[in-house]
Amino acid sequence: MTTTKQYEVLQWASLFLEKHNREARVAEILLQHFLGVSRTNYYMGMREVIPERIIIPYKEAIRKHAETGVPVQHLIGKESFYGREFSVNEHVLVPRPETEELVQYVIQAVQQSKPSEPVSLVDIGTGSGVIAISLALELPNATVYATDISVQALSVAKNNAADLQADINFHQGDFLQPLIDKNIQADVVVSNPPYIPRTEEIALSDTVKNFDPELALFADDDGLAAYKKIIIQSQKVVKPNTILAFEIGHQQSESVTSLIKTAFPNSRVKTIQDINGKDRIVA
Ligand code: SAM
Ligand code: GLN
Repeated sequence: MTTTKQYEVLQWASLFLEKHNREARVAEILLQHFLGVSRTNYYMGMREVIPERIIIPYKEAIRKHAETGVPVQHLIGKESFYGREFSVNEHVLVPRPETEELVQYVIQAVQQSKPSEPVSLVDIGTGSGVIAISLALELPNATVYATDISVQALSVAKNNAADLQADINFHQGDFLQPLIDKNIQADVVVSNPPYIPRTEEIALSDTVKNFDPELALFADDDGLAAYKKIIIQSQKVVKPNTILAFEIGHQQSESVTSLIKTAFPNSRVKTIQDINGKDRIVA
């Protein structure tokens, strides 16, 4: 029988992670997950002995994360986004906190400009479904459509929608095409498309480049290919006051603005910074 206490195994894990240049807080996230306890009980139990059946898989997960960079979200199978838990796996981008700001922006824009009327909202490249599902739950007046080209991603999104009781119309296909085919008119088009230029792959961390799906990260034409296609396609689904809102890479504000201005000469376009002060949304 072992007598290893919780804080001791935590110390081992933090040191192991630090040696591999990984964030030490992963030690706590994983330990709380393997213990399966609330945050309070986790802190109260620091001096308790941990059973071997928890220590063994916990150490294995710590080693795997440290040595390969596998995202902690893949190890525990979930990530929280806009106050809710979403299941994730290797077929979807791990949702990013920056994208919560895009959701926040759309909620405010809809509440200001279309407070009570029914709105039709589309999320392009839905991945795990975080944007579509959060918006459907926060905006009860919205009918939400979501597309992705990846069947596996759509399956993750559908499970998340079912778990969170969000009513979403999912369609597989190339960006907006499935909705154009259905003659859907949208009041809001929102997307966090792939936008990383291929040339930047080398600079990405192993956690991103080896584990997020390629389809979710990279776009041709200096990272602009998806915007070009979505903006052109949008011409077929917009109404007079449709809101377009895109997450962008922090150096893409000018290019995406000019793509929108070219497709919609009378539109008003603005760029919004994220909490780190970087350009993150063009709307
Ligand atoms: N919306 C999710 C989020 O914000 O976490 C995922 C965004 S991820 C950056 C981009 C998504 O676009 C991926 O799920 C990918 O499969 C999808 N995608 C890539 N090319 C596509 C295409 N041609 N048509 C539809 N979806 C596409
Ligand atoms: N923001 C993601 C990253 O930095 C990229 C997501 C995207 O291309 N839309 O890895």
